[in-house]
Order: sequence, then C-alpha cells, then structure tokens
Amino acid sequence: MFQTTIQRPVSAHGVGLHTGVHSELRLVPAPADAGIVFRRSDLECFRIEAHGSNVARVSYATSLMKQGVLLSTTEHLLAAIYSCGIDNIYMDIDAIEVPILDGSAEPFMQLLDEAGLRKLRRKRRYLKVLKPVEVVEDGRRIGIYPADEFRVCCYVDFPHPMVGQQEVEMAVNAESFRQVLSRARTFCFEADIEPLRAMGLIRGGSLDNAIVLTKDGVLNGPLRYADEFGRHKALDLIGDLALVGLPLLGRVEARKAGHALHTQLVGSLLSDTTAWKITTDEPVVRNRPRFEERFASARAAD
Ligand SMILES: [Zn+2]
Repeated sequence: MFQTTIQRPVSAHGVGLHTGVHSELRLVPAPADAGIVFRRSDLECFRIEAHGSNVARVSYATSLMKQGVLLSTTEHLLAAIYSCGIDNIYMDIDAIEVPILDGSAEPFMQLLDEAGLRKLRRKRRYLKVLKPVEVVEDGRRIGIYPADEFRVCCYVDFPHPMVGQQEVEMAVNAESFRQVLSRARTFCFEADIEPLRAMGLIRGGSLDNAIVLTKDGVLNGPLRYADEFGRHKALDLIGDLALVGLPLLGRVEARKAGHALHTQLVGSLLSDTTAWKITTDEPVVRNRPRFEERFASARAAD
C-alpha cells in the first residue's frame, strides 16, 4: 500500500457552526510523510497538524490549538479525509473554524471526489494496535483493541423518542463511510439552543446545518436515516480518531462517548508506546464480505 494525497486543489466556503464566522476552505495536495495538516491561511499559513498532541478544548466540537492558534470543529472534515485513506493533505482555512456546510461529511466527500486521489511513491505507515487501551467515565466508555483492519462500533442512548438506543458497527473505508455515515448530520436538542447560545456556541447553527430535536419529534425533518443520530456519532468518532495521525489497524468501541472521551482515548493510546507499533506491513485482508452485507447483518442483529 502506498501513501496518497489529492490530485488537485479544491475549495469550498461557509460559516462555522459555533463561531458563525465565514471561512474559505482549500484542500491542497501534500508530499509523502507530510501528514494531515491544517494551515491558517489568514496567519501566514501557520501549521496545525491534525494530531492528538494539538488537541485543545473539547466540548461540543473538537478544537485544535498550537502555540495559541486555534482551529475549531475539525471532526467532519477529518472523518471524510481519514475514511478515504488520504495520508497527506493541507487544509487551508482563512478563519478560526472549519465551515459546517450541511452538518454532515457529504459536502467534504464531494470536494474530495472533485480533487481526485493520487498515489505517492512512499509506503503507507499504519499504527497497529497491540493491546487494549480503554477510557471509562460515568457510564461512558471507549476502548481500542487489536484488529487487522480499522473498525468502529459506536453505541448511543439518548432518552428521546426519536433516538433511544442506536448502534453502528463497521469496517471503515471510503466505500463504507460514503454509504453508511457520510450523509448523517449533526443534531441538537431544542431545549439546549438558548443555553448553548448563552455560552457563545452555535452562532452559525441553523435549520440548514443541524437537525433540531423538539421534546418529542424533529423540528426540521425528514431525517436522512431513521438512525441518523447514531450514524452521526460514528462519523464524529472517526473524525476524532484521525488525530492518531496515521491510518489505524485496530477496533474501536465507543459507548455513549463524545468528543472528550474520543480525544482522551487518542491521548492515552499515543502516550502508551507499548500499546502500538508503526508498521508498513500490509493489513491482512481475508475473504472479507462486502461491507453492505456485514452492515445489514449488524442492523438485523440489533
Ligand atoms: Zn458532528
């Protein structure tokens, strides 16, 4: 397996979910071993690597910070890039926050389609998990375990008639991400809107970029999937796992987790150097069934 980047620069623009600040995002090809790197184009292209060592505040979104320079709401863009197997890319942004677009990762997938994929002449390096690492906190938990491919299992349980218990379990690759997760949008509860606004958050939030749950229904339906909430949480999880900095060979299980727990897991994993190794060995791919079949059986088993 060789490292990849994109073929050509592409761009999009929109407002940030939390700041409401308008920004232009430009994706630019990067050389081998450059990694996945944000650049603040309004600050002389100041570089912030998408890496666990740069995680800053984490509450309703994941923010990176390096030497006091902040970049917010990285998870949906990173989920698309990481799932598509892009090893090297520059993400130039001329403001503090990644545009939210429609609240899902679909617009980023379209952007990556437009950019095209380019193979580089350097072997891909994987981070292979060797032993379990877990983070547990108040009935929420997340763990990563050895596996021959990158898999996620994400379980959510919200006390709301439209949500309840939802679970997604799948091997992550460009195809599975596109079909199962990429279109799932972010969501919030109507009752949380005023408190969040009072905290200075969701200033760019609107009915065009988030599903709003009322007391017993959805304000701006229809949903794209009946279990869109669980799927979006899995999307968020993958976007945060991108902060490992290399493609993962491991299985991640998240139960009622969120950005804080996701990024704590990344930090715990990276700091325990006996829990993983970096390898260029190809992952073992046994006669794997197509992901749709596995996904269908996982759903049927719910
Ligand atoms: Zn999200």
